Amino acid sequence: LINFDQVVKRFGDLTVLDHLDFSVAPGERVTLIGPSGSGKTTILRLLMTLEKVTEGRIEVDGEPFSHMSRGGRMVPANEAYLRPRRKRIGMVFQQFNLFPNMTVRKNLTEAPVHVLGLPKAEANERAEELLELVGLSDKIDAHPTQLSGGQQQRVAIARALAMRPEILLLDEVTSALDPELVAGVLDVLRTVAETTDITMLCVTHEMGFARDVSHRVLMFDKGRIAEEGTPDEIFGDPREERTKEFLRSVL
Ligand code: ATP
Repeated sequence: LINFDQVVKRFGDLTVLDHLDFSVAPGERVTLIGPSGSGKTTILRLLMTLEKVTEGRIEVDGEPFSHMSRGGRMVPANEAYLRPRRKRIGMVFQQFNLFPNMTVRKNLTEAPVHVLGLPKAEANERAEELLELVGLSDKIDAHPTQLSGGQQQRVAIARALAMRPEILLLDEVTSALDPELVAGVLDVLRTVAETTDITMLCVTHEMGFARDVSHRVLMFDKGRIAEEGTPDEIFGDPREERTKEFLRSVL
C-alpha cells in the first residue's frame, strides 16, 4: 500500500532520511521506533505531504505520491494532484490540533461535509458512532477547552477516522499527555486496531503498546532502518547493538 523507494530527505546540510526503502501492506500496523532525530516524524510528514522528498519516490497504492507524470516525465506532485489522494490518509499529532472554536460535533463533521461532500445527517451519524467508539458520546456539544488532554486526543482520533482514511498516521500521540491520561488513549487505539482493517503507521515511545498492536516494528537510526522484525523479535531478541542500546534507554 505504501512504498518508499530510495527516499532521501535533507534539510540544508542535514540528511534526515538516507536512501530509505520500505513498504507497508494493506491492513498492516507498523511501529517506528528509534532515538530522537532519527527521522521517524519526517516519514509521517512526507506521507501527509507536509514535506517534500529531496530524492527518491513514494507510492501509495501503486500510484506515485511524491511525484506525478507530466508529458511523459515524472515531476514533483502539485497541489491539484495531491488533494484527492491526501484524503486517503489521516493523521493524529502529538498536539491534538482540534479546532478550538468549534464543538466536538463540528470538529468531527466539518471535513466530511466540506471535503468529502457527505450530507450533514450522515456526517452527524458518523460523528456519533465514532464518539461512542472513543467513549465520549456525552461530550458531543462540548468545546475542546472543556476537555482534558486525553479526551481531546480521543476526539482527534475520532476526527481523523471520520474521513474514513485507508491509512492512519500516529505521531507520538500520547507524548504530550499527563501520565494518567495515556492509558485511555492507548485503549482507544487498541480498539481501532482490533475493530478495523485500517493500515496504521505509528511513531511511539510506548513500547508496550507497540508490542500489542503492531505486526512489524522498524528501528530507525540516523535516517536508516537499523533493524526490523516482529514485536517479539525486536523487543524479545534484538540482534543489533543499536536496538539493544535504544531499548535499554526507554524500557
Ligand atoms: P523525535 O522522536 O524527536 O520526534 P524523529 O525521529 O521523529 O525524532 P524527526 O522529527 O523526523 O525525528 O527529525 C529528524 C531531524 O530533522 C531532526 O534533527 C530535526 O531537527 C530535523 N528537522 C525536522 N524538520 C525540520 C525542518 N523543517 N527544518 C530543519 N530541520 C528539520
